[in-house]
Amino acid sequence: MARHIVCLTFDFDALSGFIARGLTSPTPISRGEFGVVGAERIVALLQRHGIRATWFIPGHTIETYPDACRAVAETGHEIAHHGWTHVPPANLTREQEEAGLVRGNAAIRRLTGQDARGYRSPSWDLSPHTVELLLQHGFLYDSSMMGHDYLPYRARSGDRMALEEKASFGAPTRLIEMPISWSLDDHPHFEYFRSDGITLPGLRPAAGVLENWFDDFDYMTRIANWGVITYTCHPYVIGRGHRMLMLERLIERLAARGAVFAAMEDAAREWAAQGA
Ligand SMILES: [Zn+2]
Repeated sequence: MARHIVCLTFDFDALSGFIARGLTSPTPISRGEFGVVGAERIVALLQRHGIRATWFIPGHTIETYPDACRAVAETGHEIAHHGWTHVPPANLTREQEEAGLVRGNAAIRRLTGQDARGYRSPSWDLSPHTVELLLQHGFLYDSSMMGHDYLPYRARSGDRMALEEKASFGAPTRLIEMPISWSLDDHPHFEYFRSDGITLPGLRPAAGVLENWFDDFDYMTRIANWGVITYTCHPYVIGRGHRMLMLERLIERLAARGAVFAAMEDAAREWAAQGA
């Protein structure tokens, strides 16, 4: 029996991503604030379609917007770890990274009564310590790497990469990697961003992104009997009207094509149960 799983994931960064980049003046902060509006719309949409999704929420968002986060948790979604601050682990010392894991989990525990099973690094950049730290802190999976498109795999620890040497791969660990991709992330497609020397144009028509996203699922159904595809959305990005309609159309088209929607922790466990 073919089974094609879709994980809808929402990175509820709100203000934290702007603060981590030093953008603390009123307009960028208001841009993050819109995430709360978007989150409410997304929760309602998922409820209408009976979908359990995964929300990666920084501790900063949980503590700043307790009511909005409670509304997400109370509708049954998986709450996963996305740092306490939104600073990527690659820019932290090992001690800072571990402190953020502990503090973020404490916020999630207060919200849901349990630690996170899943982790996604801010800006998708892991440190050399992340995999080991996630295992030490009892995580089931990470969702920050791009080594496959529809198959989870075991994350390695101890890779050594040097410019003039062949790659030296570390050993696979127990940590399950639920791969992602920038092409299946709403942010680079849609979000106009300007800072010193960099302009990310974004603002693409949603219908074109919808076609890309649907086709990646369609392709998986053609080449695999079992697979999982992960879409990454940010409430302050996808929460705008034309993009919310795109998300709804995507859900409808995927469902019509036989998609099974699942929270990421359940997809990870299902993959592991196959003995992989
Ligand atoms: Zn984020």
